[in-house]
Amino acid sequence: MKTYLPPEYIVKRDVKLCNKCKVCIQQCTYGVHYYDEKEDCMLSRDENCVNCQRCVFFCPKHAIIIRKNLVSYRKNHHWTSEVITAVKKQAETGRAILTGMGCDKPNLTYWDKLLLNASQVTNPSIDPLREPIEIRTYLGKKSKQVELALTGEVVLKTELTPQLCLEIPVMFAAISYGAVNLNVQEALARAAVECGTYFNCGEGGLHPNLYRYGDHLIVQVASGRFGVHPEYLNIGAAIEIKIGQGAKPGIGGHLPGEKVGKEIAEMRMIPVGTDALSPAPHHDIYSIEDLKQLVYALKEATGYAKPVAVKIAAVHNTAAIASGIARSGADIIVIDGVLGATGAAPKVIRDNVGIPIEFALASVDERLRNEGIRNEVSIVASGSIRSSADVVKAIALGADAVYIGTAALVAMGCTVCQRCYTGKCPWGIATTDPEISKRLNPEEASRRLINLLNAWGIEIKEMLGGMGINSIESLRGNREQLRGIGLSESELRILNIKPAGR
Ligand code: SF4
Ligand code: SF4
Repeated sequence: MKTYLPPEYIVKRDVKLCNKCKVCIQQCTYGVHYYDEKEDCMLSRDENCVNCQRCVFFCPKHAIIIRKNLVSYRKNHHWTSEVITAVKKQAETGRAILTGMGCDKPNLTYWDKLLLNASQVTNPSIDPLREPIEIRTYLGKKSKQVELALTGEVVLKTELTPQLCLEIPVMFAAISYGAVNLNVQEALARAAVECGTYFNCGEGGLHPNLYRYGDHLIVQVASGRFGVHPEYLNIGAAIEIKIGQGAKPGIGGHLPGEKVGKEIAEMRMIPVGTDALSPAPHHDIYSIEDLKQLVYALKEATGYAKPVAVKIAAVHNTAAIASGIARSGADIIVIDGVLGATGAAPKVIRDNVGIPIEFALASVDERLRNEGIRNEVSIVASGSIRSSADVVKAIALGADAVYIGTAALVAMGCTVCQRCYTGKCPWGIATTDPEISKRLNPEEASRRLINLLNAWGIEIKEMLGGMGINSIESLRGNREQLRGIGLSESELRILNIKPAGR
């Protein structure tokens, strides 16, 4: 069948600059560039280009520019070129359109519509260079009161439930072995250790090389139960039950067969080359009571020594679900917003299902406070955190800490080209191909992650100091520190913040 799909991108090569070194041929994993011997020139197969920018960065002559191919369909606000392309693609393939990373629709990022406060005259600001500002955070159930024995030295008499101690309120979100390669997970693990935070191995099991990072690891239990066994549960510092994720609420996980090589197949306990499909629901969870059974089964299996988190996608009734989760005995609720990323998801689900994390977070925090159970659980916000400002705003909206996924991958080199599902990530990230994986050096990648978190730590302290707050704990749910700009009355009401100027 002849394709009616024009190339999405056009490769422009400056022939005056190009010295035919063929570096672009080596770097491109999609076979875009080639050398024409007859004409003695470099040419491009534009239809293969995904705009990953690898060739642009590696061309020693800066001879390449990639441009979006703006097809001149007649202007139509309803039948946009994206919609026309999707229909044509499905007419040619008969399949759901797969995509990677998070939703890229406009108007779903509310962080940019929230502005932070700063002290002036009264409640003076604090200079983080001269005075201590605490950004250490503990995740887990908090006691209503603590009893101290004051005989000589102070001794805590109250028995605390297990907690995660974060030196910075930012953790690395679940990214599974298979979705990415071992070098990526190794980089995340090393950075988590160095920064005093945690990484999450996702639902693909745990490679034995990562066992040594167990004190900084959150292990995930998802509906497919890939790689879950007693040793796995006990090796991590916490366990996360994954009910849903922001990029694909209501459907299961999908690791395309192209990415299931020998080692991944072993880890997941499935045949090589088969799609790893985790079911949409956990087949043993149909109620909060069932969830409670799993929470306590995992606590029992790990000697009640580790906090148990439950991760859900931000959907319409998240607050009510979170209330149930808080009563199920879970220690941490993770809420993943509509902009959360994934290795592979049907585009129609990614772009149309779920709600922004800002609304879900605000309503969950408020509901738990109104019900008097806010301290029964910690809240981790996930999906769309791009900067230290987003972290601070999330905490002011009610989060105890955040997860970052895309930001961590971008720090390592990802250009958000959204082709993770192909298994050919030219940056050596979302690929399990042994040769392409070598492009990511775990030592260098972990250094980039450490730099990122260190920079965010400095900025978080600056913002706290500016607000006259010396502890991140005092910012949690402190919405007086937020104002909305360009938001409707109902949006402000749900976020429970005032408009700028009031
Ligand atoms: S990498 Fe740059 S200079 Fe080398 S062949 Fe490609 S376009 Fe030409
Ligand atoms: S991880 Fe790789 S394939 Fe996925 S968006 Fe980033 S650069 Fe593209």
